[in-house]
Amino acid sequence: MVQSNRLSHAILFCEENGGGAFALASALAQYVNCRDRKETDSCGVCSSCHKYGKLIHPDLHFAFPVSTGKDLSDSEKKAPISDYFLRQFRELAVSNPYFTEQDLYEAIGIEAKNSNISVNESKRIFDKLSLRAAEGTYKVMIIFLPEKMNADAANKLLKIIEEPPVRTLFLLISHNPERILKTIRSRCQRIDLKPLSTQERISAGAVQDNPLMREKITAILDASLRRSIADIFPLWEDLAEAGREQQKEFCLYAESFLRKIFLASCGMETLAEPVEEERALINEFAGRIRKDSYEMVLKAFDKVLSDIGSNVNSKLVFCDLCNYLLLTL
Ligand SMILES: [Zn+2]
Repeated sequence: MVQSNRLSHAILFCEENGGGAFALASALAQYVNCRDRKETDSCGVCSSCHKYGKLIHPDLHFAFPVSTGKDLSDSEKKAPISDYFLRQFRELAVSNPYFTEQDLYEAIGIEAKNSNISVNESKRIFDKLSLRAAEGTYKVMIIFLPEKMNADAANKLLKIIEEPPVRTLFLLISHNPERILKTIRSRCQRIDLKPLSTQERISAGAVQDNPLMREKITAILDASLRRSIADIFPLWEDLAEAGREQQKEFCLYAESFLRKIFLASCGMETLAEPVEEERALINEFAGRIRKDSYEMVLKAFDKVLSDIGSNVNSKLVFCDLCNYLLLTL
């Protein structure tokens, strides 16, 4: 689109939760503003790319659902907007551009259920985009979850998208495009992102180290290797009661952890890039798990991921998984 000069001024990326649309949107924004753009990617070293890499470019703006966070002052609490949470947002998005909706709420410390994009936010978007671009070629507004706008906010945004200031790029990221105001949707070029495979998410670095999950998967592997039904029983029950997003996250983490153990067992620990806390555990399990069982076990986790996605009863799913691990490892 950029090369053929057909870049739409408003693009709606539709993704599955955690599907990498933010990574794509910010890469596109970086590309259009790069001072030494290559044929298929930005240069990565110019002053604009440098600021985009840290998400601190003055022409790059964000809007995302917020609510009354605990760290806000009394006056901020009256009308919370994204700007109050920018530091936490940048930290999250730089360290994991594949963040999920839940990751966002955790990072900015708000409850998911009351979050929205308010009319105050829309006013602020209008104000920011009315200014001339400070440095970049394009002013970029990335709106995460525009479906979280109420009617007032959405109508105000519609006006800006209908009559955009020059050289402005709106990049909307949605998990539920049908809930976006139809008139906004029709102004945007829509791009549907294919869901990422487990392997793609792991190689993109989308799976983060997580001490609680690490503890859980090591307990499950240990109980399986000891063939202890008594120890493994409460572990799968616990997993079965977690929310679906957490269950998916657990499976992704477990798969990435198992891959690291496998690499370590092949003498390629450095390729596995374990974090410090993982190192001893990975080497311990590399000595305990038979090399020929990894493929089957990884497939079992893939099946769990697909079953969770199709709403199969999670008690059955995790009971099956743990029985399988008891018999296979
Ligand atoms: Zn550049």
